[in-house]
Amino acid sequence: ATLDTLDIAVLAVILLGTVAFLTKGSLWARKKDPLEAYGRPTALEKPGQTRNILEKMEQSGKNMVIFYGSQTGTAEDYASRLAKEGHARFGLKTMVADLEDYDYENFDAFPEDKIVAFVLATYGEGEPTDNAVEFYEFMVVNEPMFSEDTSDEPLSKLKYVTFGLGNNTYEHYNAMVRRIDSALTKYGAKRVGPAGEGDDGAGTMEEDFMAWKEQMWGALQEELGLEEREAVYEPIFSVTERDDLSPEDDAVYLGEPNKNHLGAASVGPYNSHNPYIAPIKLSQELFTVKDRNCLHMEIDLSGSNLSYTTGDHLAVWPTNAGLEVTRLLRVLGLTGKRHTVVDVKPIEVTSKVPFPNPTTYDAIVRYHLEICAPVSRQYVHSLAAFAPNETAKQKMVELGSDKDKFRRQITERFLNIAQVLEIVAPGETWSNVPFSIIAEGINKIQPRYYSISSSSKVDNKVPSITAVVESIEVPGSSHILKGVTTNYLLALKQKQHGDPNPDPHGLTYAISGPRNKYDGIHVPVHIRASNFRLPSDPARPIIMVGPGTGVAPFRGFVQERAELAAKGENVGRTLLFFGCRKRNEDFLYKNEWEEYAKKLGDSFSLITAFSREGPKKVYVQHRLAEHAKEVYELLTKQNAYFYVCGDAANMAREVNNTLAKIYATEGGLSEEAADAKVKKLRNSNLYQEDVW
Ligand code: FAD
Repeated sequence: ATLDTLDIAVLAVILLGTVAFLTKGSLWARKKDPLEAYGRPTALEKPGQTRNILEKMEQSGKNMVIFYGSQTGTAEDYASRLAKEGHARFGLKTMVADLEDYDYENFDAFPEDKIVAFVLATYGEGEPTDNAVEFYEFMVVNEPMFSEDTSDEPLSKLKYVTFGLGNNTYEHYNAMVRRIDSALTKYGAKRVGPAGEGDDGAGTMEEDFMAWKEQMWGALQEELGLEEREAVYEPIFSVTERDDLSPEDDAVYLGEPNKNHLGAASVGPYNSHNPYIAPIKLSQELFTVKDRNCLHMEIDLSGSNLSYTTGDHLAVWPTNAGLEVTRLLRVLGLTGKRHTVVDVKPIEVTSKVPFPNPTTYDAIVRYHLEICAPVSRQYVHSLAAFAPNETAKQKMVELGSDKDKFRRQITERFLNIAQVLEIVAPGETWSNVPFSIIAEGINKIQPRYYSISSSSKVDNKVPSITAVVESIEVPGSSHILKGVTTNYLLALKQKQHGDPNPDPHGLTYAISGPRNKYDGIHVPVHIRASNFRLPSDPARPIIMVGPGTGVAPFRGFVQERAELAAKGENVGRTLLFFGCRKRNEDFLYKNEWEEYAKKLGDSFSLITAFSREGPKKVYVQHRLAEHAKEVYELLTKQNAYFYVCGDAANMAREVNNTLAKIYATEGGLSEEAADAKVKKLRNSNLYQEDVW
């Protein structure tokens, strides 16, 4: 029989893929992973998996791949929602793919009947997320070298859709997706539908995504001639209860993050996939008021391969509060079965179960899922089919379809998924909800980052963090939103101090961890490298603006410069702007600054702004303006570095604008010229931000 064109195309793709796969590393050199030094496993270390996306799609019969570049899990969640929807509504054979798991050299061989989606978050100052660094370097930083096509438009067969996750309060809004989109277009790829952008800064991310995907599906339907069908839930994971196993069995995961932790002692190296269960060496309360907490914690990494450099971040792996674990299990009718052993397996070869198995319902909900997070309207809609009665079903459909109602009743009340189910059907049990839809639809719990507040020159094995405990009263409701990680850290601190005070809102934690492995005050952590760095020459002046917990990295910076000064080094001007409400309530490290000042002498100045002491609110940007002359001199005459840390939504922008005004008035420049000067500072890395 003769081969038809499709067969030839498929064969060509497989052959190409095989060549690409077999020659990996010899035909093109892989750039050294910047995070490798911090123990992140490199792509090549993942055994038994092809890095050829076309081969993977052929093997598994897929025609749509959704790549994600995700830092905090939202982009990954959107990717998996698109995959499910594409399959359920249009019968597309979809798969989700982590950008770091594949190579990009054969993107020119994508056949026209396949579609590629990119769901890309922008991180920090217009940067790609960790898992998208290589892709970004391939497509944007370097001239991409595709395997086959050497024409000007090597991607002319590639059809794609894009959605970006960004924050308009950052200067480089959605820079990652915009740059990737224009690179793809430049090399001839065809975007189908509008380039979607979600704005976290405006709080509209979810609705931006919902609106974009409707337009995108419409355009894709037309492009590929797809027919819409009635969507039915098809599980991606199978959930099997294992009556043959008990939670005491050694092979059962009770919350251990991976197999390196299943034995009596965990196995390194520790990295972003394998946390170190670190002893907390010291924990202290920094505020002097009763109703607010800010924790200083020193984490001992000496038993591990981990270390840090001043300016890095510590990632904390949280545990959900018992109250919320119990609430979700109860509403799902799983209370009696919480310790039953289950096996959650992918039905679909391309999907990944985000936690190790076999395990228990309790362990999944407690350690692995972000059960307290905001709920998506789409998810509420998809649970309607499993409501315990017709009224509840109607309510779920209404909430799922009416975005204003959803905002008023769910989003603005800060409810989590279990609370939504409780409110929609009071007193009922949602036992029809398949556990697979919980495991697939609720995000994997994410580590939270904290700017390290100590200097590695003082001790590179004991980073400290400075974390304000999130406890937010919801207006017009008795509900108090409790931050997942910070309240867990607070409970650890209380245990360390033998403080019997239970949380006033009933939070308790499985504080000794799975099989008591965290006992003796331990917390799972890893280190994330950052670009937020002191100048290598300590004589260079620095200006730091860090109100509230934004002062965290600057404690590290000042500590480091004080240490260098004490050793006799020449340390330049060190100017710190700090702000808080009242000097006697939340003035972080109040007494320490005097110690540093003794070592640094006149070169150090701490300039404070207390917003609630006088009749008028005074913030760091006001103090900055008052010191315009010196700030301007340091920046223009002495090449000072300028650092901002803390609140991204308002403060960082205000500080930026104030600096531009300083350039305008002190330098006699027009507004535009002053703005351009500040931009130039940023581009030359003299203006650095660590904001969240
Ligand atoms: P979460 O449970 O994650 O809640 C955080 C917020 O999400 C809530 O305040 C609320 O606004 C929203 N939210 C959560 N659940 C819901 C819901 N159901 N409905 C609606 N909204 C909801 N923090 C510090 O204190 N110190 C630092 O030095 C520091 N450095 C950081 C550095 C970086 C690079 C980054 C990215 C963040 C940093 N943070 C720092 C912030 C920190 O990572 C955490 O975000 C913060 O501590 C809150 O974590 P949490 O788990 O306690 O709260």
